[in-house]
Amino acid sequence: MSTNSPTIPPDVAAHVLAHYGRGGYPAGDWAEDLIGLISRADNINRDRFAAGFPEYVAAITAIKYDPNGVAYLLDLAAGRCPRCKKDDGPIAESGLCEACAQPMPLDGVA
Ligand SMILES: [Zn+2]
Repeated sequence: MSTNSPTIPPDVAAHVLAHYGRGGYPAGDWAEDLIGLISRADNINRDRFAAGFPEYVAAITAIKYDPNGVAYLLDLAAGRCPRCKKDDGPIAESGLCEACAQPMPLDGVA
């Protein structure tokens, strides 16, 4: 996964998983159609969708091209940190739990 990919919210992860029959729960009609269009888009049109729907494009790219994409999206959909797998939150903006999202001080002293 690219480190500059956008954060994928839990509901978007669940919608994309459901579209591919891998769990999650289905989106409404509009978002389901959007997922279908992004899934079938060529690179040029996928880039256009990414300008407006970066989290859907990131989730679909993960499930289509990342061998660990399904597991990654299942973690996000369940509110688990994809790095340490803990679900005791809170989940930070980056999609990781706060402990994983924060840079670790090497010696514990500033
Ligand atoms: Zn974590």
